[in-house]
Amino acid sequence: MSLLVVGSVAFDAIETPFGKVDRTLGGAASYFALAASYFAPVRVVAIVGDDFAAKDESVFRGRGIDLTGVERTPGKTFFWAGRYSQNMNQRTTLATELNVFANFRPTLPPVYCDSSFIFLGNIDPTLQLSVLHQVNGRPKVVGLDTMNYWIDRTPAELRETLKHTQILTINDDETRQLTGEHNLMRAARHIFKLGPRTLVIKRGEHGALMVHDKFLFSVPGYPLEEVHDPTGAGDSFAGGFMGYLASAGRINNQTLRRAMVYGSVLGSFAVERFGVERLMHLTRREIRARAHRFSQLTSFQL
Ligand code: AMP
Repeated sequence: MSLLVVGSVAFDAIETPFGKVDRTLGGAASYFALAASYFAPVRVVAIVGDDFAAKDESVFRGRGIDLTGVERTPGKTFFWAGRYSQNMNQRTTLATELNVFANFRPTLPPVYCDSSFIFLGNIDPTLQLSVLHQVNGRPKVVGLDTMNYWIDRTPAELRETLKHTQILTINDDETRQLTGEHNLMRAARHIFKLGPRTLVIKRGEHGALMVHDKFLFSVPGYPLEEVHDPTGAGDSFAGGFMGYLASAGRINNQTLRRAMVYGSVLGSFAVERFGVERLMHLTRREIRARAHRFSQLTSFQL
């Protein structure tokens, strides 16, 4: 089943203790789409400027990603720059230049309107909702990501969009900020009242916790020997997670658990190299092998 993602496509400048790149393809929708492309056909709704070149496009085309919904407009593509601390636990944003992204009004090409799996990447909640309004009928699953900026500035709009969302993927600080609850279990109960029935709390190197209204599931972070660039880990997690669900075509206890593992697998690959590099040429075998290692890592008997 086709999976539609709306979000940022960007050029990023990234500095980590392992090196520095001045301009590399990034943006939440890029990481998401590449990660999800290993599981399901992916459609992207985004905006880019006239500096988005054929070689950038070929990164998506190389993975069979549908770019019909990517609007090209005169001007520069969204630019973001960030620097990581020595232990990579902290990130300083050095620049956010919205450029053409400032005038982004997502428009779905008619061929996208039958999408049944939708991921609303971290953008203005009003724009997220406008995407849902353009879809024919009720999508099967809507996932959503957001951040402190939108939780602070557009709480009413975010609540409205959450009413139409089944799966919310955010980090622990955002969970607390959205609900005013410090305890994550209580926060999850609060979120269930807003609309979503599944909360996926991304915890960086510590893994991810899924709180469903009927069960809990937790995956650790994959113990990597080298992390070169944490940028896009959360978006890649969401891509692997939603991509797997779209490929399974149904949501239940079993598919949600597996989605958590595939999300973690794709997130762990993403951070091994700078930008989207590692997500461009993975193999099914590599993905399966890492998923298997997750299973070994967490299996025990009582
Ligand atoms: P993450 O590491 O999951 O926070 O994702 C980083 C990616 O998000 C980078 O590739 C950026 O281009 C993109 N990004 C950074 N700030 C924003 C923003 N305000 N809105 C949308 N995308 C952003």
